[in-house]
Amino acid sequence: MEHRYAIIGAGPSGLSAARALQKAGIAFDAYEASKSVGGLWDIENPRSTMYESAHLISSRTTTEFKEFPMNSTADYPSHRTLVQYFRDFANHFNLTEHFRFETKVTAVEREDDGRWMLRADTPDGAIAERYTGVILANGTLAEPHVPAFKGDFSGEIMHTSAYKSAKQLAGKRVLIIGAGNSGCDIAVDGVHHAASVEMSVRRGYYFVPRYLFGKPADTLNQGKPLPARIKQFVDKRVLRAFTGDPVNFGFPKPDYKIYESHPIVNTLILNHLGQGDLQIRADIDRFDGSTVHFRDGSSGEYDLILLATGYTLDYPFVAREALNWTGWSPKLFLNVFPPSFNGLYVMGMIEASGIGWQGRYEQAELIAEYLRACEDAPERAEHFRARVTTEPWPDLTGGYKYLGLERMSFYVNKDAYRGAVRSAVSALRGPDVHGTRTPLVKVQPKRVKA
Ligand SMILES: Cc1cc2nc3c(=O)[nH]c(=O)nc-3n(C[C@H](O)[C@H](O)[C@H](O)COP(=O)(O)OP(=O)(O)OC[C@H]3O[C@@H](n4cnc5c(N)ncnc54)[C@H](O)[C@@H]3O)c2cc1C
Repeated sequence: MEHRYAIIGAGPSGLSAARALQKAGIAFDAYEASKSVGGLWDIENPRSTMYESAHLISSRTTTEFKEFPMNSTADYPSHRTLVQYFRDFANHFNLTEHFRFETKVTAVEREDDGRWMLRADTPDGAIAERYTGVILANGTLAEPHVPAFKGDFSGEIMHTSAYKSAKQLAGKRVLIIGAGNSGCDIAVDGVHHAASVEMSVRRGYYFVPRYLFGKPADTLNQGKPLPARIKQFVDKRVLRAFTGDPVNFGFPKPDYKIYESHPIVNTLILNHLGQGDLQIRADIDRFDGSTVHFRDGSSGEYDLILLATGYTLDYPFVAREALNWTGWSPKLFLNVFPPSFNGLYVMGMIEASGIGWQGRYEQAELIAEYLRACEDAPERAEHFRARVTTEPWPDLTGGYKYLGLERMSFYVNKDAYRGAVRSAVSALRGPDVHGTRTPLVKVQPKRVKA
C-alpha cells in the first residue's frame, strides 16, 4: 500500500510541512481554501485576520525560515513583504505545485482500515481522497472568540478579525475591548482616524519596545536561556527603565509576572496615552444602547465596539475525540501528536513568544522524522509511541506559570519547546554511534495527563 499524506493549509505551518515532507521524500498532497500561499499573511485570503497597517511583531531574523532568509532589510517587515516571502519560498522549493488551491477541506474521517478519507469542496465540485495520515495546518487565529456581555449595544460591534483598515474607524467614537497585540495596533491606527479611541482592559500588561539598545528586542539574549525567575527579574527592570510603568499610563497593575502571558510588543500605545490621544477604561460591566458601563462605575458613549478578544481553536472538519480535545484545546504530545497516534498530526498549534516560522518548521521536521521511521524503522517508531504513552511528557513551560486562560492553554516556552522537539527527533533517529539513546524527556519532567 502506497503511503501518502495530506496537508491542510498553505500558511507558514502548511508550507513548513510541505517542505519537510519533500526533503524526507514522503509523498503528499496539500489543500488550501484560498487562492494562494501565505495563510493569514495574505490579506486577500478570506480567512485572513491581517489588517493594512500590520507588520511582523517578532523580528525578521528570529522569525524567518533558517534555510530561506528574507529578502528584506527591514527588522519588522509589513504583511505585504511577508506574503511575497511565502510565495518566493513556495516557488523556490517547488512546493506550489503540490497544493490544490480554492479547495476547502470539509471532512477528515477515519476509515475502518485506519486510513483517512479527506473530503473537500473545489470550484468544480466535491472531491474525496484517501490518505495514510493528515497534517492539520489550518491556523489558530481565524475563528473569533466572542465573549458574552450583559445588555445590548445599539451601535456597531466588530471583532478584530473583520478589521482591515483605519477607514473603518473614521469619525467614530471607538471602544476597543482587550489590549493584545492586534488591539494595540488598531488603537494606534485609530488615533489618526477615529473621533476618539478608548480601550477597556481587564488586567495589566507588560509592554516590550521593538528596539532595545538599538537592536530588535527579541534578538538580545539569544544564547543559553536564563532561568525563568532570573529572566523575569532582569527583564522587568529593563522594561521599567525603557518604557516606564504602564500603571502611570492608566493600565491596571498586572496580577501576574512578566512572560506568564504573551507580552505586547508596542510602545506607540504608551506614547499615544502620554499624548492624551487614547484613554484606558476598566473592564466592561454592561451595555445599554450607545452607553457602555464599566466595572469601576464610570460609563462612556460609543459608535463602534471593537472586540480584540482573541481567537478560539477550531478544527471543524475532524471529530474532537480524534484530536484528544481536553478543555480549551487538544492535548497532544509536543502539541503535534494525538496520544493514540491515529494518523493525524497538528502543525502550528503553538503560541509562544519568539518561536517564529523556524520553530514551526522544526515541528514539521519532527513529523517527517516520525513518518520516515514508520516506513524505514518501524521498531523505532513503535518504541517512540510506547514512550509517549508510558513516560512523562516534557514540561514545555520553561518554568513560567502561564495564566489559566483559553489562549494560554497551548502556550509554550520557545526554548523548552524547541529543546523537546530536538530530543524527540534524536530519539526517533535512534541510538548514536556509542549506542546511547537520547531520552525523550530532557528538560525537567512533569507528568501531564494524556
Ligand atoms: C496581526 C498578526 C501579527 C502576527 N505577528 C506574528 C509575528 O510577528 N511572528 C509570528 O511568529 N507570528 C505572528 N503571528 C501569528 C501567525 O499566526 C503566524 O505567523 C502564522 O501565520 C501561523 O501560520 P499557520 O500556517 O499555522 O496559520 P495561517 O497563517 O492562519 O494559515 C492557515 C491556512 O489554512 C487555510 N485553511 C484553513 N482552513 C482550511 C480548510 N478547511 N481547507 C483548506 N485550507 C484551510 C487558510 O486559508 C490559511 O491559508 C501574527 C498574527 C497576526 C494576526
